[in-house]
Amino acid sequence: MGNIDLHLHTTASDGVMTPSEIVNYAKSRGLQAIAITDHDTIEGVEEALSEGRRAGLEVIPGIEISAEHSPGSMHLLGFFIDIHDPILRERLGYLQRARAERNPRMVDKLNKLGVSITFEEVLKASGGGQVGRPHFAQVLIEKGYVRSFQEAFNRFLRKGAPAYVEKMRFSAEESIHFINDASGVAVLAHPKTLQLNDRFELENLILRLVQEGLRGIEAYYPEHFAFEVELYKTLAERHGLLVTGGTDYHGIEKNGLDIGVGRGDMNLPYSILENLRTARRPSQR
Ligand code: AMP
Ligand code: ZN
Ligand code: FE
Ligand code: FE
Repeated sequence: MGNIDLHLHTTASDGVMTPSEIVNYAKSRGLQAIAITDHDTIEGVEEALSEGRRAGLEVIPGIEISAEHSPGSMHLLGFFIDIHDPILRERLGYLQRARAERNPRMVDKLNKLGVSITFEEVLKASGGGQVGRPHFAQVLIEKGYVRSFQEAFNRFLRKGAPAYVEKMRFSAEESIHFINDASGVAVLAHPKTLQLNDRFELENLILRLVQEGLRGIEAYYPEHFAFEVELYKTLAERHGLLVTGGTDYHGIEKNGLDIGVGRGDMNLPYSILENLRTARRPSQR
């Protein structure tokens, strides 16, 4: 059995490869199964599913929802979602409109900071999919305002930076509910980015989310140190949660990171996906 990668982005959000390209790339790297988890959109899923059938690679329909949280960011993964679920589609429509309102305001802020950038340039960078901050970063690099993605985020785009604009999000509770209602399995993505102070804060949050229907924690993630992976696994076990993992591969921006293997040390067995599948409620199978 080959390995899996349960956290991937395509051109439908801020990834660089089209859904078909990422399926074929995963196949060429010997992966057995992947999940497509674009930010707040399922536009890439159908193409990935059909290319997966053609190429002989198992593709899990997924989503990555940005939920309300501070000081860091909270992302919730939904695996096995029914992409035709009307409520899910309506909720994602809200999030997409929220982005559409935010993006021109970020262009305005950048212009006021003396950065000459147009919305058309950002649209072009997005390649027709949903616009996200990495596309702003790409334009800032191309136009010579910054030298790297990290510099673009640190100076302009990260939460709290001068060009950052808040967008409407759903609460974690609401996000978990609409993932579950669309037959999905809700998983807390990369807990590290929550930027909580200690394990007690994290455990309290997890307790709250489990009450709402959270089913798993993404413990295996390229940015997690070994001690963090162990902590997340311990908390998962203590609260009856599944453990998942993925590289969050977007294509180019994170140097040295590759699909399936992350920075070389990731190795996610197919059993992780099997556990996720059997954990779906009987009515969801
Ligand atoms: P958006 O969907 O516009 O909120 O952008 C989210 C994406 O921006 C994330 O998936 C990351 O790839 C990237 N990102 C967010 N914050 C940072 C940061 N501080 N440093 C680098 N990349 C970031
Ligand atoms: Zn992204
Ligand atoms: Fe994320
Ligand atoms: Fe992601």
